[in-house]
Amino acid sequence: MADQHYLAGLNLVGRTVVVVGGGSVAQRRIPRLLAAGARVRLISPEVTAAVEAMAVVDQLNWQRRRYAEGDLDNAWYALAATNDPVVNAQVVAEAERRRLFCVRADDGDLGSAVTPAVGEHEGLTIGVLSGGEPRRSAAVRTALIEALYEGVIDDSAAPAAPGVALVGGGPGDPGLITVRGRRLLSRADLVITDRLAPQRLLEELPSHVEVIDAAKIPYGRAMDQDHINAALVNAAKAGKFVVRLKGGDPFVFGRGFEELMACVEAGVPVTVVPGVTSAFAAPALADVPVSHRGLAHEIVVVSGHAAPDDPSSLIDWPALGRLRGSLVLLMAVQRIGAFADVLIEHGRPADTPVAVIQEASLRGQRTLRSTLVKVADTVVGEQVRPPAVIVIGAVAGLALREGALHVRHHRPAE
Ligand code: SAH
Repeated sequence: MADQHYLAGLNLVGRTVVVVGGGSVAQRRIPRLLAAGARVRLISPEVTAAVEAMAVVDQLNWQRRRYAEGDLDNAWYALAATNDPVVNAQVVAEAERRRLFCVRADDGDLGSAVTPAVGEHEGLTIGVLSGGEPRRSAAVRTALIEALYEGVIDDSAAPAAPGVALVGGGPGDPGLITVRGRRLLSRADLVITDRLAPQRLLEELPSHVEVIDAAKIPYGRAMDQDHINAALVNAAKAGKFVVRLKGGDPFVFGRGFEELMACVEAGVPVTVVPGVTSAFAAPALADVPVSHRGLAHEIVVVSGHAAPDDPSSLIDWPALGRLRGSLVLLMAVQRIGAFADVLIEHGRPADTPVAVIQEASLRGQRTLRSTLVKVADTVVGEQVRPPAVIVIGAVAGLALREGALHVRHHRPAE
């Protein structure tokens, strides 16, 4: 049956909307009513915890009692959302007498209005009605929103303004970028990417989008940071919307702040989109909890870029040796032996569990388990190559499932 409703947009700013019932339906509807500027009067003897939280922080008027005739006084719109059909019918009847539209949550046909499946994208609001098939309208809504996010539906009437977005791409799997990051990526004129940024996302870009690989090789500098900064600034000044796509989070050992500074100093509009950092994602993907009740109340993320005795190092290795919690080492594959030695020297037990997670979220992902005294042998013996995250601490010993490769070396490394 075709939906016979007339789809309208209500301006609810400052207008009273009465919601009768404080259960899960109210919980789902109230946030959008509040976002539309409605004054929500909620009538219900009981509410869910989430609704109660809204009553505390928002300007939501909760009257803690059962519905009574007259509750729709001054209302412009009403929702009958109790689990009692008799009460819902009474609310609809009062609305009818007052000539205000009322949604009946338990049976849409018995109310005078229905709530469409709603989605939002960049200032667009999409509402879908299907004549009583809520799953269908929700599915269409979701598909439309996703198509807009991904650029499959082109809403290019709203081109991106010139500027730069520093986007954290996550550890590598295209599903682990944020929704905002992906949306901005779909609107880029130019993408400047890193080797560790999620490469598969680049394949989806339309052909007119220019992609430059900043190609930063560990310990090398194929593209000097100043050149990257200049490329960002110049492209934005030429009117382009530039996405600087980085691995993980832009500010976790990613030089993101240098790029932010360059843009700010040049007067170029710049925004930062946080990312899922490999420091936490790699352990999580390997079933290693970086914190765990009773085991680790601290997590320290350490760069392995400089050797422990390098005068430029800012790391207090003796302090880390005394630490009992979790240590998460990035860029540490090459020097893991030196780091393990200095930690043991300063008190970390030699049998402390260690997990090495290589290529997290990518096809080659693997996890090696070892101990502090053996980890250098493990890394060499198993030919671990970057990128890898190394977790040191009791949490690294919590092997739960098959598939995590346990490596035992017979030769004691003293
Ligand atoms: N900004 C990034 C880190 C850049 S430093 C982030 O937040 O994740 C580069 C280091 O990150 C690598 O040497 C490695 O230690 C780690 N790394 C990045 N991606 C990784 C992945 N998919 N798997 C394991 N380690 C990764």
